[in-house]
Amino acid sequence: MLEKNLRHIQEEIAAAARRAGRFPAEVRLVAVTKTVGPDKIRQAAALGLRDFGENRLQEARPKLQLFPELRWHFIGHLQTNKVKEVLNSFTLIHSLDRYSLAQELQRRAEQLDREARCLVQVNISGEKSKFGLSEAELPDFLEAMREFPRIKIEGLMTMAPYCDDPEEARPVFRRLRELQREWARPGMELKELSMGMSNDYIVAVEEGATLVRIGTALFGERSG
Ligand SMILES: *Cc1c(COP(=O)(O)O)cnc(C)c1O
Repeated sequence: MLEKNLRHIQEEIAAAARRAGRFPAEVRLVAVTKTVGPDKIRQAAALGLRDFGENRLQEARPKLQLFPELRWHFIGHLQTNKVKEVLNSFTLIHSLDRYSLAQELQRRAEQLDREARCLVQVNISGEKSKFGLSEAELPDFLEAMREFPRIKIEGLMTMAPYCDDPEEARPVFRRLRELQREWARPGMELKELSMGMSNDYIVAVEEGATLVRIGTALFGERSG
């Protein structure tokens, strides 16, 4: 089942990339394993997947311990008191969304003598239920990140509102791509665009996603 799902997703990603004049290899699949147990993670790794995403540290902990060789992405809202542990175990934080979090990331990364690789989360749809900076806040925020030498801003992340019709997500993804082009600077190229989930990843790839975060379409419906 997992193998069939994965093959299907990879074919869809490749086709969407080609439609957009892109190389399929420009898109990385992040397998989102919230509520998914170790057996399926092991299977996914055996099928060649290397990038995995979790949105809560508490749930991620045992999986990080079991699979330290995988690249773990932190995709959920990050509380300041979890920063140290997240920096220690995750390769990329997709959810940098406020100045106080950046301050703590800088402080802890300095202590640990490492970089904090981050994407800035932008709330393009303006939904109250979603985290992320508004478009209007983004330029000053990116500028402010220059004060933090340990923080490497590698790109932008967004979540589209959930809709039955994935076409409704297209303007959101397109806007993130425009913001990338508008605000990329030497030393802050914003190369990565983390956008697209199970229901809308095809549209996201057409609009320039470099990281798609997929749970359900890969592992099946979550029970919890
Ligand atoms: C759960 C989650 C996903 C994956 O959602 P699916 O619809 O299951 O693919 C992607 N991104 C974030 C931030 C998530 O929390």
